[in-house]
Amino acid sequence: MSTFRYRKGSIFRSLFSRARTERAASIPEVIPGTGLRGSLQLRHVDAGSCNGCEVEIASAFAPTYDAARFGARLVASPRHADGVLVTGVVTRNMAGALVRTLDALPRPIVVVACGDCAVSGGIFRDAYGVAGTLDSFVDVDVRIPGCPPHPGAITQALRSLTAR
Ligand code: SF4
Repeated sequence: MSTFRYRKGSIFRSLFSRARTERAASIPEVIPGTGLRGSLQLRHVDAGSCNGCEVEIASAFAPTYDAARFGARLVASPRHADGVLVTGVVTRNMAGALVRTLDALPRPIVVVACGDCAVSGGIFRDAYGVAGTLDSFVDVDVRIPGCPPHPGAITQALRSLTAR
């Protein structure tokens, strides 16, 4: 009967001698006014975007930036969400959908404006199909400037809400 032994520097030694994953982050304190504690579920609303901001949001949740690592997630229903992630200036066609989505969210809510159009109207501000800027519909908590914003900036802004 043979006895298995690790040889110095063998692959088995490296497999069993070190932790394979990062230690889980400790749960942060509740962020005042939001009720959030390390986790953020967002319903994305495209209120009239050119789709450039959506491409960068997709990158923020893809493996390189991986915003989900820090507790932020996009969800399909406003009933499951802590807030909204809005892109685009608010167009007449989407104003009703935005208001109904905001009404469907359980309180308190967090509103994140992603991209110059959502932050201030951007280049479409005075276009004929625009109903108004996002902050004329709802109080905005977090603004992510840029046209479009960098996925790293989106991830960083979401981390400011999860404190992770
Ligand atoms: S901020 Fe720029 S990229 Fe984003 S929706 Fe407006 S025009 Fe498009």
